[in-house]
Amino acid sequence: MSKLTNGLLALSLLAAGFISAQEVEPTTPEETEFYEPKPPKVTPGTNGSAPSDAIVLFDGSSLDNWISAADSTAAKWILNKDGSMTVNNRTGDIQTKQNFGSIQLHIEWKSPAEVQLEGQHRANSGIFLNGLYEVQVLDNNDNPTYVNGQVGSIYKQHVPLAMASVPTGEWNTYDIIYHAPIFEKGQKVKSGSLTVIHNGVLVQDHVEIKGTTPYIGWPKNPVHGKGPLKLQDHGDNSRVSYRNIWVREL
Ligand code: MG
Repeated sequence: MSKLTNGLLALSLLAAGFISAQEVEPTTPEETEFYEPKPPKVTPGTNGSAPSDAIVLFDGSSLDNWISAADSTAAKWILNKDGSMTVNNRTGDIQTKQNFGSIQLHIEWKSPAEVQLEGQHRANSGIFLNGLYEVQVLDNNDNPTYVNGQVGSIYKQHVPLAMASVPTGEWNTYDIIYHAPIFEKGQKVKSGSLTVIHNGVLVQDHVEIKGTTPYIGWPKNPVHGKGPLKLQDHGDNSRVSYRNIWVREL
């Protein structure tokens, strides 16, 4: 059958109600091209700086967007002159004032050049999506630990696909896509997911979030809505620094 006969036959079947519009094979390129709705224009950032539609959470100028996670007082971490901030040991985790659901997150972090301690005690920090789900930050260079708790892991849930850290003392980037879990009537009906790109290397490929990421015990699934982005003070003089933190809400 020729293309034309085929097309005419399909049109007759469509008109007679035997098939729907979706079942008619398009015969021209234009039928599968559309122009609306137009994606918004976004001006990308350079060298980790925020794109035009991002919410900047830390650009080195102040800790004003952050509070102490324990008591909501002003964040007590150290603001450095080079546009970064550093964990102030044992002052506690900090979190954003603003709450987020699903986000794209860009964050840069650095372990101190002078190494101290071993395993999980060496420059341990972490990035908690929704305040609950930890992407591990750790100085893993020549410093083995359990692989589901190593750098780039979803802590105690997902081993990273690769170990992609730069040398200790240099800046790492994490680009993270977080989709929040969905709850209905007090139950989780869809798990959240995480994708993590570490220094341009995919280390978590849309993995399922099984629940919270505790040190001891199984993941838990408390019902929640939007939550803060939280950064960990692990309490063993980690001296981990962060800079260029921005999110785009999804
Ligand atoms: Mg940690």
